[in-house]
Amino acid sequence: APAVDLRDLRISLDGTPILAGVDLTVATGEWVTVIGPNGAGKSTLLRAVGGLLPAPDAVRLFGTPLGELRRRERARVVATVAQSPVVPPGMAVLDYVLLGRNPYIPPLGRESAADLAVVHEVLDRLDLTGFHARELATLSGGERQRVFLARALAQGATLLLLDEPTSALDIGHQQEVLELVDQLRRTHGLTVLATMHDLSIAGEYADRMVLLADGRVVASGPPDEVLTEDLLARHYRAHVRVIPGPH
Ligand code: ADP
Ligand code: MG
Ligand code: MG
Repeated sequence: APAVDLRDLRISLDGTPILAGVDLTVATGEWVTVIGPNGAGKSTLLRAVGGLLPAPDAVRLFGTPLGELRRRERARVVATVAQSPVVPPGMAVLDYVLLGRNPYIPPLGRESAADLAVVHEVLDRLDLTGFHARELATLSGGERQRVFLARALAQGATLLLLDEPTSALDIGHQQEVLELVDQLRRTHGLTVLATMHDLSIAGEYADRMVLLADGRVVASGPPDEVLTEDLLARHYRAHVRVIPGPH
């Protein structure tokens, strides 16, 4: 079964239809990036896939309807990095990433050794070895994004939902974070469903792109078939410039 299978996903918020029947599948190991103008419904789509909005019948993850997954099972399947994750004031990196293992922070010294081992491994993998005691709020944008990824990985989920993971970063750090996600995808066998607002490098990392406009899929395919002047001019209100990738 595909990692993600959406059939006629419809979401209304406050009586307004936001997603108007979205069909989308993401194969296991695939990286699919959803693009679209502001307000198209990208974040809403990810929230529905992550189980944060009620759509129990329209969403299947690895063959199981979302509504049939218990909360704990769901946490093993899917991890979300929100568009602007809340950064709890005063919290250390280690404690924040530990939240990927437990929905609460255990008292000091009462953390499970197994959970701590996972957290240390993940922090090492993301080049955050020296950051355990650092306060989250003091990190740079790129470092913070790596911590958000670390928390999602610590959860042990196989499907990563990334909502504009690079929107707060300069181009160098954008590349660094996307490269890291791609590496993790290969080494951990992860599936990635991301949204991206900045199209300049989005196409270099996705296997497939989906263009969402007004809550509908208007194009889907390899990046070079979706990132066309014609489609973008038709669906983006503001002018977007696509920097041609290396391939
Ligand atoms: P995107 O991520 O593509 O910018 P969103 O999914 O955030 O789009 O939002 C899609 C539309 O839904 C927007 O018009 C937004 O104003 C609206 N919307 C988002 N959240 C809510 C909400 N809680 N209640 C009502 N409307 C909402
Ligand atoms: Mg937006
Ligand atoms: Mg959004």
